Amino acid sequence: MQETDYTEFTEITPSADIETARHGGRAKCLQRLIRLGLPVPKTVALSFDAVHRIAVGQMPDKSALLSLFGATPLVSVRPSSGDPDWGGPGAILNIGMNAATHAALAEKLGQEAADRLYLRFIQSYAIHVARLDPDRFEEEACNHETIRAALLAYEEETDSPFPQAPERQLGQVLRSMARAWEGTTARLLRQAKGAPADAGLGLVVQEMALGIGPVESGSGVIQYVDSTTGLHQITGRYLSQSQGRAALKQGEGVLYLTRDPRGRSLEEQCPEIFEELKRWGDICRQRLREEMQIEFTIEGGTLHVLDAVRVQRTSRAAVRIAVSLADDFIISREEALARIEPRALNELLHSQVDPRGARDRFARGIPASPGAATGKIVFGSAAAQASAARGEPCILVRRETSPEDIRGMHAAAGVLTERGGMTSHAAVIARGLGLPCVVGVSEMRLKARDGQLVAADGRVFHEGDIITIDGTSGEALVGAVDMLEPALDDAFRTLLSWAEEVCDIGVRANADTPADAQTARNFGADGIGLCRTEHMFFEEDRLTVMREMIFAKTEQDRRAALDQLLPMQRADFTRLFEIMQGLPVCIRLFDPPLHEFLPHSREGMSELADALDLPLSDVIRRVEFLSEFNPMLGMRGVRLGVTVPEIYEMQARAIFEATIEARRKGDPVVPEIMIPLVSAMREVELVKTRIDAVAAAVRTERGTDFDYRLGVMVETPRAALRAGDIVQHAAFLSFGTNDLTQMTYGLSRDDAGRFMGSYVQQGVFPEDPFHTLDVDGVGELLLIGAGRARNARPEVVLSICGEHGGNAESIAFCRNAGFDYVSCSPFRVPVARLAAAHLAIAAAAKLAC
Ligand code: PEP
Ligand code: MG
Repeated sequence: MQETDYTEFTEITPSADIETARHGGRAKCLQRLIRLGLPVPKTVALSFDAVHRIAVGQMPDKSALLSLFGATPLVSVRPSSGDPDWGGPGAILNIGMNAATHAALAEKLGQEAADRLYLRFIQSYAIHVARLDPDRFEEEACNHETIRAALLAYEEETDSPFPQAPERQLGQVLRSMARAWEGTTARLLRQAKGAPADAGLGLVVQEMALGIGPVESGSGVIQYVDSTTGLHQITGRYLSQSQGRAALKQGEGVLYLTRDPRGRSLEEQCPEIFEELKRWGDICRQRLREEMQIEFTIEGGTLHVLDAVRVQRTSRAAVRIAVSLADDFIISREEALARIEPRALNELLHSQVDPRGARDRFARGIPASPGAATGKIVFGSAAAQASAARGEPCILVRRETSPEDIRGMHAAAGVLTERGGMTSHAAVIARGLGLPCVVGVSEMRLKARDGQLVAADGRVFHEGDIITIDGTSGEALVGAVDMLEPALDDAFRTLLSWAEEVCDIGVRANADTPADAQTARNFGADGIGLCRTEHMFFEEDRLTVMREMIFAKTEQDRRAALDQLLPMQRADFTRLFEIMQGLPVCIRLFDPPLHEFLPHSREGMSELADALDLPLSDVIRRVEFLSEFNPMLGMRGVRLGVTVPEIYEMQARAIFEATIEARRKGDPVVPEIMIPLVSAMREVELVKTRIDAVAAAVRTERGTDFDYRLGVMVETPRAALRAGDIVQHAAFLSFGTNDLTQMTYGLSRDDAGRFMGSYVQQGVFPEDPFHTLDVDGVGELLLIGAGRARNARPEVVLSICGEHGGNAESIAFCRNAGFDYVSCSPFRVPVARLAAAHLAIAAAAKLAC
């Protein structure tokens, strides 16, 4: 606990006892500037404790404080909190202005300048300190008359004359700033930005460096990098006052900083001062190890530095600045990595809605896949494909998506669904494709048959209307909006390569297609941790064969259909192995219920009857037969593998033949085969025996040997509890936390979106457990499963491949539990990699302590 600081105030000198934790960031930064020799006017710091005492009525010795600033003090007061992002009261300038100073300054600087200083002070004091109605203090013109009017207005409003004594002015300013900080609204606002409830406010009192005078005078800010790109470039502004107020009004007082064809520049007008500013910028960068924005004044040709703050920056700029500082050996690579918030990388990976532009929101849902996209509304996959064929970007709007929509999703620029949650079909697929997606927009009503989407406020949108979805914020917006493009530039790649070097937990990608695999490679994934093979069967040419297989009455017919699918699957896997060039590829055997491959509409069923040359009634009967009350808990995953073994046998053969094929091209492939939805050891035993037999057959047929590794997906609570038995037949276990969360909570991953918002809002769940791993419940199952598996088979490889694999908190949990790798959507690999690097850096730092 911090001890109470009874010091009333401290002049900031190089050796003064100033700490960020007691005086705030601004005070500490000013001390650093002073230590570096920057020309900072005299400054005094008041600690958090001192300011708190002011708020409760205990003033410091104001005369003693002001005496540090000479006989006629003129000072400013600025806030100095622990973090500039927490906000705080605005600065008050020119405290000490009164009738006498006004007259003296009129002599020294001219009447106009003195009038302006006095009027502006009266106005800001009246509005921000005495908290009077701003309407009465809005006068722009500065002259004797307007000053008199302002003084009169003050007196009328407060029943007392405008305070003339600098001590009284300062006291009131300090009190009002201290109280503003302690107010409930201000506290709630800063807490929302991450400030602790008891965050303190320090204040700095600084001698005014007016930037007014006959020789070149003025005020400005300068920074040395561009806030949007992070590239080295001098930007800022400088307002020259030496030309007088009249010139300023005509815009002549504005000097560009650097040589500029549009007009005069500071560089040309005051080359020495400009060079001095550049030198200070460089010194700040080297010694403060940060890109700073410097606030300065020039008074009669002399430079004063009033303050310096960290340059505001986009995530893209933050990455470039961090990499550039490390490249120049100013900070270490570890520090560069630690300076970037993993989630911030999303801004670089996807287009974003430009925060500076206007947005007209018509709906809000769950931000399921980051990035933004604009396009015409389409209500079905066929329309999405047609739109893509015309080269028109579209947004696929559905009640919810199913595997049948995959082709539509591939064709769309973004996806918006009325139902669903973080791990619903639309969300998972969209993240895999890097497609912006908003799900669970329960407030909108979809009338797909009428081609209408009705927003909560009654606005109606039709097919073809342009909308924008923002998968980062979860908003749906009317029309097209300004966008910021993704920035996968050299700085991003450099940062990622540094993260790979320090990361001590593997990061693989969930990749189903060659395109996914290529993205995974581009982002430096350590392999594929989950290839969901069923997605391969939704391609146009395969769906009919798949349906033939489902409709087969005998094993022989089924095998005949599967024989047609075999070469297609083999080609899929060969391509994946080729792209991954010897990196591990984990292929999950078929998982979904078969009825997902069947048409649901009467029209679709008639088409199928035509294609299969069957009576429509047969098709209807078969579809009805296969439909289940609760398909997610029905005939899917390993249950299909046990009861319809030919499917897994075909897949195993395709994997082995592809292995031989890819190895012939030089890649050392050892495929990993994973069995989904296991709940009992015997299931694994049965499937393993069959796969071993297929491997033996392929080895004999091809006259060549190969290895493979068989693993189990732990996604039922029972599999976690029985991991000790199951692992006897499994070289690796991968926790499928999407289904495991669904089954642990008894919470449908496709329907949870309907009430999740309300549950989180009412504190039933701290977070959406499909988004952030529930470490207390699901996490305990992970630990139990991992522990039991390791006891029985110490060399077992453990991983997580549910959507949580890309989430920083879940990665920390898995790393602590000693997992070997996490696997997530390809577009989340960079974020996961950086989060993992942060954990490794923090652990190394802890060890070094
Ligand atoms: C899971 O359940 O966590 C998983 C990765 O599989 P899927 O999302 O395909 O059910
Ligand atoms: Mg699953």
